Amino acid sequence: MNATTVGEYLRARGVSRREFLIFCTTAASAMALPAALVPRIAEALEKARRPSVIWLPFQECTGCTESITRAHGATIEGMIFDAISLDYQHTLQAAAGTAAEHAREQAMKDNWGQYLLIVDGSIPTANAGYGTIAGVSNLDMLREAAKGAAAIVALGSCAAFGGIPMARPDPTGAVPVSDVIKDKPIINVPGCPPIPVVITGVLMQYLTFGRIPELDALGRPKAFYGQTLHDRCYRRPFYERGEFAETFDDEGARKGWCLYKLGCKGPTTYNACATAKWNGGVSFPIESGHGCIGCSEPRFWDAGGFYRPLSTGNWGTATTVGTAVGVGVALGAAAALAARRRQKDMEKKA
Ligand code: SF4
Ligand code: SF4
Repeated sequence: MNATTVGEYLRARGVSRREFLIFCTTAASAMALPAALVPRIAEALEKARRPSVIWLPFQECTGCTESITRAHGATIEGMIFDAISLDYQHTLQAAAGTAAEHAREQAMKDNWGQYLLIVDGSIPTANAGYGTIAGVSNLDMLREAAKGAAAIVALGSCAAFGGIPMARPDPTGAVPVSDVIKDKPIINVPGCPPIPVVITGVLMQYLTFGRIPELDALGRPKAFYGQTLHDRCYRRPFYERGEFAETFDDEGARKGWCLYKLGCKGPTTYNACATAKWNGGVSFPIESGHGCIGCSEPRFWDAGGFYRPLSTGNWGTATTVGTAVGVGVALGAAAALAARRRQKDMEKKA
């Protein structure tokens, strides 16, 4: 754990008290917490030691790193890099080769049992040579780094659920972090990529309260993944009235009607896109006229076609659509139950 507190670190960098409180208000908003908690967050952050963070990118496209580094607003972007001690992230760090690996090993040694491990990308298991860093297989590096971690954030759908690398035919035998590590708390932050404010919110919550947030059955923080897009979608009144766009350029599409018949997976997708939105809160896919493809759900790539409705049938009333949603939700619930059982088994073994 870094010796300086977040407060000391920010003051040393010339951050004023006022700026610090604005920072805390942004953090509260990112954590979906009420503004009344800002003084408590300020007090906790002031005293918090800057946690060491080791970030391992495996089978990924760098979209998750891109998402967080493109986070809008200097406050949010500054928050993540000022409030943590990012000791290893080979995409962002200046060091390379032996020096970079030495930095990782030193950070692990100095912060054994206390560092936060972030993983993006899935882990190839079919052949050790499919993913290596400095001659070490992704699988071995994950196992080694996880041993001294206080908790692990599986960032993005690849690390959380296997994502696109695990899509059929899965040539690399890709698996999510939770298939490899069974004895550490894992926070799944899925999305392809995850929303920047959700990433910062999860990290800030850990930093502020020193514990992992409340998770759902699939290991996702409930604050951000507690509701479906459909629950919060501004097009929902059209859905309820049975008003659906049939093509991307018909009258219904122009009037902003529901995109369910065009394959929207919002009813079975848990994520904060409809409220946190993207690009600094400007918009989200459904607002731009395209249905949700369910990127934050397990197996989203293989789930049956981005433009195929969740269930085909006799469209025309919200009741029939509602039945289709019910089937989708039931399947999701079955998957969630299986995941909860796995989690319980893990807890028993731990
Ligand atoms: S089906 Fe999609 S577009 Fe329609 S209300 Fe639900 S989330 Fe919104
Ligand atoms: S709208 Fe759906 S597919 Fe698009 S980013 Fe959000 S969860 Fe992923």
